[in-house]
Amino acid sequence: MVHKKARSSKKKTTAKKVVKKAPTPARTVAPVAEPVTAVQPTEPAVVETPTAAKPAAPAAPKTRTSTRKTTSTRKKPASAAKKPAPVVEETAPVVEEVAPVVEETTPVVEEVAPVAEEAAPVVEEPAPVVEEAAPVAEEPAPVVEEAAPVVEEPAPVVEEAAPVAEEPAPVVEEAAPVVEEAAPAEEEPAPVKEETAPSVEEDVSPVVEEVKPMYEMSNLPRRSIAFIGSECHPFVKTGGLGDVMYALPRQLVKLNCDVRVILPRYACIPQKFQEKMEYRGAFYMDLGNTGRNYYVGIMEYVCDGVVYDFIDNQEFFSTGNPYTNLVDDIPKYCFFSKAALAALNYLNWIPDIVHCHDWQAGLVPVYLRTLFKDSPVGHARSILTIHNLRFQGIYNIPTIKYWSGLPNEVFQMGALKDGYQDANMLKGGIAYADRVTTVSGTYAGEIQTAEYGEHLEGHLRYHSGKLRGIVNGIDYDMWNPATDPALAEHYDLGNVLDHKMANKLALQKELGLEQDEGKFVIGLISRLTNQKGLDLVSSIIPMVLDGNTQVVVLGTGDREYEDTFRYYESAHRGTFCACIQYDEARAHRIYAGADALLVPSRFEPCGLTQLNAMHYGTLPIVRETGGLKDTVEPYNTFTGDGNGFTFDRYDAGLLLDAINRAKSLYFDNRYHWDEIVQRDMAKDVSWEKSARQYKDLYLELTPW
Ligand code: ADP
Repeated sequence: MVHKKARSSKKKTTAKKVVKKAPTPARTVAPVAEPVTAVQPTEPAVVETPTAAKPAAPAAPKTRTSTRKTTSTRKKPASAAKKPAPVVEETAPVVEEVAPVVEETTPVVEEVAPVAEEAAPVVEEPAPVVEEAAPVAEEPAPVVEEAAPVVEEPAPVVEEAAPVAEEPAPVVEEAAPVVEEAAPAEEEPAPVKEETAPSVEEDVSPVVEEVKPMYEMSNLPRRSIAFIGSECHPFVKTGGLGDVMYALPRQLVKLNCDVRVILPRYACIPQKFQEKMEYRGAFYMDLGNTGRNYYVGIMEYVCDGVVYDFIDNQEFFSTGNPYTNLVDDIPKYCFFSKAALAALNYLNWIPDIVHCHDWQAGLVPVYLRTLFKDSPVGHARSILTIHNLRFQGIYNIPTIKYWSGLPNEVFQMGALKDGYQDANMLKGGIAYADRVTTVSGTYAGEIQTAEYGEHLEGHLRYHSGKLRGIVNGIDYDMWNPATDPALAEHYDLGNVLDHKMANKLALQKELGLEQDEGKFVIGLISRLTNQKGLDLVSSIIPMVLDGNTQVVVLGTGDREYEDTFRYYESAHRGTFCACIQYDEARAHRIYAGADALLVPSRFEPCGLTQLNAMHYGTLPIVRETGGLKDTVEPYNTFTGDGNGFTFDRYDAGLLLDAINRAKSLYFDNRYHWDEIVQRDMAKDVSWEKSARQYKDLYLELTPW
C-alpha cells in the first residue's frame, strides 16, 4: 500500500510550472488565506479558472463532426463502422515513443497544506512500485480481436508478475497534468447559493450525518482505494450508480479498507452538504490542448469512515444536473478524470487501487498509464466498473484529443478509437484498466454478445480475461423498512404481514387511488427510457387494469413514456397513477406500499429496484436478463420456491403472463404469497458478500 500521511510541510513540486503564481481569478475566489485550518466553509462558489489571463477554448472542438446527436446515449453506429476488420481492431495499445517526462507528470503542488487530521489515512504498506513496473500481460498483446468469449481466469499472481514487454500506456507527449500552484486567494469565496443547487434527488435518508467511526477491527489485509465516479448518494444521484458509489465504500471500510470517493462538486449538491465540506487545498492544472490552466479545488467531507473529496471548478460543474449533453459532458469528464488523479497526487494520498466507474471516469485508467505514469499515483492499479454499457462517452477524435491531451498512441483501435472517426472513453478505459468489472455475472457474459454488447462485444471478448461480474447489493441503513423515515408505518420480517398493509393504504391515499386493502398494487420505479421495457408495459396496461389491480409509476425520462403514462392516469383515475418526477421519499413509500414491482427491462446490468422491493417484502416481476436473472429466482408452483415472477423473451404477452401468475397467487393463495414476502425480506441482498468479492479483487491486484 502506498498511501502516505499528508505532508504538513511544504513540498517542492517537480511539476513543470507553467505559471508560477496563480493569476488572481477575475471573479474569484479561490481558497482563502488560511487553508491550513481547513475550515474554509464556503469554498469557491464562484471558484474558478482565471479567465482573463488565459486563451479562450476554441469553439471548434465543441462542434462534433459526427452526425450523432448530442445525447449521452450512444446510437448504434452504421454497420460499416461497427465491424472494422478484426485484425486491425485489437491491436492493443502500442507503445512507441516512450518519453515519460517525469516532471511533467508530477502534479503535486503544495501551497495549501492539507490539514493534518483529515488528511489521508496513515501509511501502512510499502509502495508497490516494483510491481507496477510489470503491467498486466493480457492487455497489450496485439492479438486478434475475436478472442474466445470464455473467461479464463488468469492466475492473478503470475499475471501481475509477468514482466511484459509492451506497456500499454505510452507516451507523455505534452501536457503536464498539473501545473501550478493553488491560488492563495485574496478574496473570500461567496457561499454557494441554495437555489443554484436544485437537488437531483430529494434526500430523505437519515444517513450521512456525522462522522462516526464504524471500523470493525479485523485481521483482513488493509488496502486503500480511491473511488472515482460522477455521482453518489446522497449528494447527487440519477440512478443505480449513485447507490453503488454510496454503499460499496461504506461496506469496504468495514473490510479494513481506506476509501476516498472523488466526485465533481456539482452546484446541485444540496446546500446542507456544501456547508459541511471543508477546504483541503487547490491548484491549477493544464488540460489538453486548451492552453489554459484550470482551477482544481478540493473540498472534503467525511462520513462513516469514508472520505469524500469534491473536485471544485465552477466552469465545469455549475449546471443544475450532472449530465447535460455530450458537448459539455466530454470536456467536463476529461477535466474531472484528470483532476481526480492530480488531486490524489496533490493530497499525497496514493491509493493501492483506483476504482473508477462508467465512462465519465473511463479516461482515468488511460491517464494513469500515460500522463500520470511517472507520478506517485501512477503506482496504483486500476479497476473500471461498467454500470451500464450503453453509455460510453463517444465523440470525434479531435475533440477528445483536444480536451484530454492524451497522446496519439491511445487513439488507436485497440484503445480509444471507435469506428473511423470517433473516440470512445469507456473503450479506452477497458483497454487500460487492470481489471474490468460489471455489476452482475449474467451481464458480464451478455455484454460479450452482439445482442447486449453495444458494439463493444469484440473489445470485451478480447479483454475477457480481466472481466468479472460482481452483483450489486443495497445498503441496509438506507433501505430498512424498520427505520425508514419515509414510511407510514415501520415493519420488519417479524411483523410484515400485519404492518405492510398500512403502507399500502397510506400510499393509495397519497396518490389518490381508491383506498382498498383488497386491490393488488403494482409499482414501477424507473428511469423512463427504452432500456426499461416500458413499451411492453404501456402496451398491456388496459389488460392489467382489471378492476382489482392498481398501477403506480414513478419516474422521469423520455417524453413518449411520460406522456403515455400521463394518458393512462387520466383515462383510469383512481386505479392508475403516474408520478412523473424523481422523488426518493415517494420511491421508498412505493416499495413499502406496493404488492409487486415491475422490472421488465430490455437489458439490466444489475438493477437495484428489484432488490429494494424484495427487502421491503414486495415481490418482483422481472425479465430474466442481467442482474435480474441473478437476483430473482422464479416462483415454482410445485415446490413453492422462488422470490418473484419472471419471463424470458422480450415480449409483452410474456410480461402479461408473469403479471397474471403473480395475481393468481395473490388472490387465490395468499398463504403462499405471504411465504414469499417473508422469504424475500429474509434474503440477503446486502453489500456484504459483494464487497468481499471486490476486496478479493483488490487483493488479487495487490498481492503483497
Ligand atoms: P438505473 O441505474 O438503470 O437507473 P437501477 O435499478 O440500477 O437503475 O437503480 C435505480 C435507482 O434509482 C434505485 O435506487 C431507484 O429506487 C432509484 N430511482 C429510479 N427512478 C427514481 C425516481 N423517479 N424517483 C426516485 N428514485 C428513483
